[in-house]
Amino acid sequence: MPLHHSSGSEDTHPMSFLGITLKNPIRGNRIKRAVGLRCEVCGCEEYLENLVVHSIIKEEEGCEQSPGSMEPFLLVLCFRCHNAIHAFDAPRSSQEELARQRPEPLRREIRRILSSVPRRYTPPDTDMEEAYIVACTSHFRFGV
Ligand SMILES: [Zn+2]
Ligand SMILES: [Zn+2]
Repeated sequence: MPLHHSSGSEDTHPMSFLGITLKNPIRGNRIKRAVGLRCEVCGCEEYLENLVVHSIIKEEEGCEQSPGSMEPFLLVLCFRCHNAIHAFDAPRSSQEELARQRPEPLRREIRRILSSVPRRYTPPDTDMEEAYIVACTSHFRFGV
């Protein structure tokens, strides 16, 4: 969807939760590591970049969920299984069944990753503020 980039309007177009989760490489990579860098369907070990965090539900539905509650709707998949799941339009129930097979500690870990990582984009003003404080501090130190 088009982004309206008139100044200051970003807040009226919040990125959906899934967008943040699945396109945020840090979060995605943490989830991939949490499951042991394996495809959750075929079990093959893969490099980080050869795994995808697939979402079982549609992005619109994801918006309504709190981040931590998304755990049952994510699967870490290798490219082959990911392609297959989309190509055969695997029923949502069987995908959710796979997610439910995770051991409880892993589910907790994924929930933790989901709910702890995404900070809202830190506006540059914050850095400016800090720079200002630092400048003032050094002014104090040297200016007296
Ligand atoms: Zn696989
Ligand atoms: Zn997918």
